[in-house]
Amino acid sequence: MGHLPDPAAVQGQECVIDEKTLNRHHLILFFTRTALLVIAAGTLLRPLLVELPTVYTYIGILNLVILSAIYLGLRANLLPGWEVSILMAAGFATVIPLTLISGGVNSQFTYILPTFPVVAALTGSRRITVITASLAILLVLGMTLFGGHLWDLTGEQMNQGKSLSRSFWLVISLVAVTYFSLHYQHNNATLTRRLDAQATQGHLTGLLNRRGLQNSLSITLEQADAKAEPLSLLLMDIDHFKRFNDDYGHAAGDACLIKVADCLKKGIRSADTAARFGGEEFVVMLPNTDQHRALVVAESLRKQIFSLQLQDIPLPISVTIGLASHTPGSESTQADLLQRADKALYEGKNTGRNCVKVA
Ligand code: GH3
Ligand code: MG
Ligand code: MG
Repeated sequence: MGHLPDPAAVQGQECVIDEKTLNRHHLILFFTRTALLVIAAGTLLRPLLVELPTVYTYIGILNLVILSAIYLGLRANLLPGWEVSILMAAGFATVIPLTLISGGVNSQFTYILPTFPVVAALTGSRRITVITASLAILLVLGMTLFGGHLWDLTGEQMNQGKSLSRSFWLVISLVAVTYFSLHYQHNNATLTRRLDAQATQGHLTGLLNRRGLQNSLSITLEQADAKAEPLSLLLMDIDHFKRFNDDYGHAAGDACLIKVADCLKKGIRSADTAARFGGEEFVVMLPNTDQHRALVVAESLRKQIFSLQLQDIPLPISVTIGLASHTPGSESTQADLLQRADKALYEGKNTGRNCVKVA
């Protein structure tokens, strides 16, 4: 395991640690460990099975040392964002010298090359996958063209026709593997996006759920501090919501929630975010909005909601809103902000409901 924490362990914390980044980090470490194991086994076992010039052992040991250093660097997360490129560069740096001294395209070390685009696709972007595959193909073509000038310590006799045929099938293998890997990568990205949406969006209202709000709020708070901009938060709770359920059934309660959610969606700017915080509680996040402006927005939303009416249900729909603002440099956390808004909301409930209270 790397030094980054386990995503499950940090859930619900203030900071949002991107699970996908963490997963990729662990996957990269896994591939690096596997490569280390394969090289170690090859370096130790191969001389016992076949007669080889000692230079292979020296190269093996050198590769082990370099890859171990890279592994420690990756583990310590020294160059985040460059992990896949480093892993691919290490892969080529390990295979190229061995291939060049054992017959180029006829070397068994070239069989490792098709695993490179697979690893790139599983851990990195489409771009790095295509670059890796292109480099591998160029390497094969280069070795085919200049095969006659390479140093072949294995001493195997190869005719040119056989070398050309091997080169051809190696390129076909690289192209096929890259195509399948990219296809998998695309499918995986689509599925991940869908699961992300399901995990962060409420089914009933289509608004962000509590988890989605927490992710979004911590990013927005960070951005507000970075840009030295204010941020306001409205926590609203539908008044006497239980009456909808109790007097007209659960479906009426659901219809009321949908109505309020739709009103919020229409009533906010595209930069704002509305979320369903819990049962009949909603949160509206207003970036780059100070307390004074937020009060105007809150009043407007309160009035719009108060004008809503459900068909055949003569109950008034109203909300009580607690408003809390974050001023740049104030170092208030997500929890502080929500707590202040909640306190103001509670005050509003105690002073008659259908109103806005400022924390
Ligand atoms: P107050 O004005 O003090 O906020 O009173 P209230 O009746 O709105 O608040 P209370 O907390 O007593 O009731 C909230 C109810 O919301 C209780 C719960 O059963 C209901 N509820 C929570 N989630 C849903 C939902 O998804 N659909 C429906 N229909 N009801 C829900
Ligand atoms: Mg409530
Ligand atoms: Mg309520």
